Amino acid sequence: MKAARIALGWILCGVLGVAAASAAPKAKKVFVLGIDGLDPKLLQMYMDEGLLPNFKRLVDQGHFKPLQTSMPPLSPVAWSTFITGMDPGGHGVYDFIHRDPATLMPCRAESGVKSPRNVHLPGCAVLPLGGGPENLRQGRTFWEHLEEHGVPTTIFRMAANFPPVEAGGKSFSGMGTPDIRGTPGTFSFFSDAELADRDLPGGQIYAVRVEDNRVKSRLYGPLDPFHDQESPECRARPEPERRLNIEFEVFLDPEEPVAKIVVQDDEFVLRQGEWSDWIRVDFKALPLFASVSALGRFYLKQVRPEFELYVSPLQINPEDPGAMQISTPGSWSHELCEELGYFYTQELPEDTKALSGGVLTGREFWQQAQFVFEERHRAFDYFVDNFEEGLLFFYFSSVDQNSHMLWRYMDPHHPGFEYDELLIDGIQIVYRELDEIVGRALEVVDDETTFVVMSDHGFAPFNWQVNLNSWLVEKGYVVLRDPSRQGQYPLYSNVDWSRTKAYALGLNGLYVNLRGRERNGIVNPGEEYDRLLEQLERDLLEMVDPRNERRPVSLVINSRRDLHGPLADDGPDLLVGYSWGYRSSWKNPLGEFPKQIFVDNDQPWSGDHSMDYRLVPGVLIANRPITLDAPALYDLTVAILDEYGLEKPDEMIGQDCLGDR
Ligand SMILES: [Zn+2]
Repeated sequence: MKAARIALGWILCGVLGVAAASAAPKAKKVFVLGIDGLDPKLLQMYMDEGLLPNFKRLVDQGHFKPLQTSMPPLSPVAWSTFITGMDPGGHGVYDFIHRDPATLMPCRAESGVKSPRNVHLPGCAVLPLGGGPENLRQGRTFWEHLEEHGVPTTIFRMAANFPPVEAGGKSFSGMGTPDIRGTPGTFSFFSDAELADRDLPGGQIYAVRVEDNRVKSRLYGPLDPFHDQESPECRARPEPERRLNIEFEVFLDPEEPVAKIVVQDDEFVLRQGEWSDWIRVDFKALPLFASVSALGRFYLKQVRPEFELYVSPLQINPEDPGAMQISTPGSWSHELCEELGYFYTQELPEDTKALSGGVLTGREFWQQAQFVFEERHRAFDYFVDNFEEGLLFFYFSSVDQNSHMLWRYMDPHHPGFEYDELLIDGIQIVYRELDEIVGRALEVVDDETTFVVMSDHGFAPFNWQVNLNSWLVEKGYVVLRDPSRQGQYPLYSNVDWSRTKAYALGLNGLYVNLRGRERNGIVNPGEEYDRLLEQLERDLLEMVDPRNERRPVSLVINSRRDLHGPLADDGPDLLVGYSWGYRSSWKNPLGEFPKQIFVDNDQPWSGDHSMDYRLVPGVLIANRPITLDAPALYDLTVAILDEYGLEKPDEMIGQDCLGDR
C-alpha cells in the first residue's frame, strides 16, 4: 500500500537508531549461529549422553563456555545487548513492555508504531498520512560498524531488529515483527461449539454456524487505515466495519471427516487433523489502492460433532510486504521468497498462545512448531550454500519456544507435569535437530572461517508465580483505593497513587512513583528516593514463600547504580531477579493485584528464563579459543568486530573474548 501506511496495533513511546555507508569488502568469514534459549546445562547433559555428535565435534575442536546473559535475561533485552555491545542502560530495552510515565500505560519496548496523522473525512472515514513501525532500540548494531568498514553482512531474523536497521547489507527482521494485524501474532479459531465471539491472549475465537454442511465466515486483516480508529463512536463499530476482511467458505463432506475450503482464488481440501500449505490472501481497503497481502495456514481440527478450524496468525507476505519493511534492502524479502517459497515472517511463529489458550493440544503445537523448524532448516541450507564472504548471522527460535511449552512434560516435579510419551522427549528432540544444523554448518566451515554458536540465555523451570504487586500491597508500598475489592481490577485502576511509593510492571521491573516523572509521583528525588530503593532491595531479598520457606528473590539490580549508559535512569528503578523455579506471575506484568502472592504455575508455558540472570546463562561455542573466564554477550559483540580488526567503539562495555587458533 503506497499512499497510506497501515497503522498497526502497538502503542509507541520512543525513538530510533541510525544507518551508515560502506567501502571495499574483506574476504574473512565469520558465521554466527544464534539459537534462542539454548541452555548450557541441557546441552552438556545431552552431549554427555552422546546425543549431540556435531556439537561435541565442534566443542572438541574449539571451546564451550556459559555466556553471561543480560539482566533481565529476556530475549529482547539480551539480543539488544548482543547487537549493540551495551547493557539496557545503553540500548534502552529493559523488558518486552515498558510504561509511558505520563499515562502509566504499558507499551511495547523494542519496537512500536507511530500513529498516522489522519485527515478526517465525513462519517468515520479518514485519510491517513505518514506513521508506521519504528525500531525503539538505541545504539548502533555491530553490523553497521562492519558494513562501514567494508565487511559485507547478512543478518537473518535477528531478534529485536524490527524494522531492520538500514546498514548497507542484507537483513531480515526477527523478534518484534508483527503479523498482518500489527500484533505479535493473533490466530483465528472458528467453531460452532462457541456461542459468541471471544478474545483470547494471542487469538480470537469466532462463533460460526454449520448450515447444510456449509460454514461461512471471515478472515480479518489489519485495521482499515481509512476508518477512524480513534474516536469512541467509530471505534465502537463492529469488527467487519473497522478491520479489512475477506469472506471464506467451508463445505463439509456429509459423511466423511473432510472439508473443502474456498478462500478468494484458492480452493483446497483438508481431512480432519490436516494442515494446509501456505494460502495467500489479499485484503483490499479501497478499490483504487493496492491490496495488503498476507499468508495463512489452515488446520482442520475437527469436522464433527463440533466444527473446529484453526487459522494461523496471518503473516506479512515476504513476496509482497507492501509498506511493512521486513528486510533491507526492501527487495530482498521478495528475492528470498522466490528462492525459499512462502515462509513465516511473524516474530516467533511457534503458536504458544494457541496451546496456552487450549485451542491446540500439546501434540498439535508440536506439529506446528516442527513446521516452523523445517521451514527454517530449508532457509538455513540455502544460506549455508550461498555463504561466500563477510559475516553471516542466522537465528533459530525453536529451542526457546519449545522449552517454554514442553518443560512440564519432561519434569515430573513441575506443578503442571503431564505424561505424554512423545512430548516427554520434545526438548531433547529439538536439541538433536539443532545438532543436525551444527553438522550442516560444519560442512562449510573451513580453517579460515570463525564459527560461533551462541544463545541469548538458558532455561529454568517455572514452577511458582510471584504476584509482586500483591507483595507490594502487603508491605505497604502500594495502597489500594478499595482493599475489599483487591484483584478485581485491571491495569492499576484500584491503586491510590497519592499513597503508593512503588509499583511493578513487566516481568522484572519495579518502578518508584517518583515525583516529577510519574503522572502522580509522590516520592521525592534524592535522599527519599535512595532510601526507598535501599529498603525495597532489602525487603525483596528477605521475601519468603511461606508454603516452602524458599526465598523467591535472589538478586536485585539498581539500574542507576549497576547499569551503564545514558539510559540507565530511563527504565525500571529496580530489576528483580527471581530464584530457581520462580518467576513473575501471569497477572503481575500489567498491574493486577490478585489476593495470593505465591501461586503454582500449572500453565502449558512451564519453562522460563526471566529470573536472576546468573541462573540462566546462554551458550558460547567457538572454533577459536575463548579467552575470558566468564564471557558475556557484550564481550562477543566486541570479539566479532575484532575478527575484522575493528577497534572497540567507546559505547561498548565488553572486551574481546576470542583468541586466534
Ligand atoms: Zn524465551
